[in-house]
Amino acid sequence: MSINKTAIVLGGGGFIGNHLVSRLKREGFWVRSVDLKYPEFSTSDADDFVIGDLRDPELVKRVLLAPNQQVGQAGFDEIYQLAADMGGAGYIFTGENDANVMHNSATINLNVAETAVHLKAGKVFYSSSACMYPAYNQEDPDNPNCAEDSAYPAAPDSEYGWEKLFSERLFLAYNRNYGLQVKVARFHNIFGELSTWSGGKEKAPAAICRKVAEAKDGDTIEIWGDGLQTRSFLYIDECLEGVRRLMESEFSGPVNIGSDEMVTINQLVGMAMEISGKKLNLKHIPGPIGVRGRNSDNRLIHEKLNWKPNLPLKKGLESLFHWVDAQVQSVKTQA
Ligand code: NAD
Repeated sequence: MSINKTAIVLGGGGFIGNHLVSRLKREGFWVRSVDLKYPEFSTSDADDFVIGDLRDPELVKRVLLAPNQQVGQAGFDEIYQLAADMGGAGYIFTGENDANVMHNSATINLNVAETAVHLKAGKVFYSSSACMYPAYNQEDPDNPNCAEDSAYPAAPDSEYGWEKLFSERLFLAYNRNYGLQVKVARFHNIFGELSTWSGGKEKAPAAICRKVAEAKDGDTIEIWGDGLQTRSFLYIDECLEGVRRLMESEFSGPVNIGSDEMVTINQLVGMAMEISGKKLNLKHIPGPIGVRGRNSDNRLIHEKLNWKPNLPLKKGLESLFHWVDAQVQSVKTQA
């Protein structure tokens, strides 16, 4: 069997991983995907999809062996490590899932870093998160500081963020000590179609689109917190563009991959209402909200990759809203 460049996407049944598999296929890679589950809202474009638990070191050794690879030969050209035990604020900020989040994700990363060296993989991409930034720099909603070099002294506001910080250091240590080529990106709120939109693990954009899609004109919808907390949201296509550009570059990171169009949650809801054409009332209720303000600082990515995301939030949100709306309508029809 003669094949092109090979890539493996760990977490390829998840939101970003599933989109990444499709992108790599379009670029001509032979792609293996590994996850506990198949993608929820589409089929996978992967050449080979392995259902398995990456906490198991034996499974990791098996799947990271590239097709046709013999002992001692070079392994996968590219590994994308996106598998993690995660969810939106309702999952990572309540404290109830802390032990699982830390144990499961750290175990996967330990297995992958060790095996990637052992099996002579080309490059490893690791998806860290903006949640690793110190909470003390994100108290002022108008002026959060998420520059890459502001990470220390470390003080993430969740165990999810602490695990991400540990694992980015882990991959960078394997780079220094074993010459493993690594690329570390800190994602900031990635959103788009084919993402979880209900059930408790959904993120703010999908949750808000669902609430707006389910409501009738004039209804009241509930929003966690006072809605004045700020965030930025990056559309999936731009996230993948950043990932691929980082992978092709000489730069290891860590680097932010996020949007720098900061909005309040109330403004995000306003955009979703505008797209839907509905006028709704907002009721602010207590809920897990995370830090007061967060925005991607894109100076470093621009400097190193000569590129940064620039799609307006409203454009991406339109695509997400229409997709979530279709999901909501199809559930209603089935009920
Ligand atoms: P996701 O939850 O949709 O995907 C993660 C996938 O990992 C899931 O499909 C899950 O089944 C899989 N997984 C979990 N434990 C596993 C195990 N033991 N074995 C095999 N597979 C396992 O999340 P996503 O939004 O696609 O995020 C992908 C990566 O990007 C994650 O590492 C996440 O922490 C990081 N990230 C995402 C965002 C975002 O806004 N989506 C922001 C920052 C960082």
